[in-house]
Amino acid sequence: MIRYINVKSKSRTELVNITNLIQNELSESGVESGICYLYVPHTTAAVTINEGADPSVQRDVLATLNKLIPKDAGYAHLEGNSDAHIKSSAIGASDFVLVEDGKLVLGTWQSIYFCEFDGPRHRRLAVKIVEC
Ligand code: ZN
Repeated sequence: MIRYINVKSKSRTELVNITNLIQNELSESGVESGICYLYVPHTTAAVTINEGADPSVQRDVLATLNKLIPKDAGYAHLEGNSDAHIKSSAIGASDFVLVEDGKLVLGTWQSIYFCEFDGPRHRRLAVKIVEC
């Protein structure tokens, strides 16, 4: 069974902390040991795991991505959001987290982020939890 979580971004580029939403899905699944797959079915968004304690890290990640991949750089794609497509591929549309004792196996400082690169929008992220 695939579960979906809804994400509402508020800015054009934004890292939305979805750790608690994913843990809730895991708890509802009842799976104690396994793998939690995360998949973003969008071409201008991504998912990543990174520092969750200091919000300045999120700002630095976004600022650096925006500097390396600027919004306007003579791209061919007429929709005007090529930077968002490139950022999506650079970060990646999928990730996974190990599961043990019914909990996501994350490091002390790790959080899971939905990466918005062409917001604000309503988005969704697919979650597949496999018991093993
Ligand atoms: Zn496009």
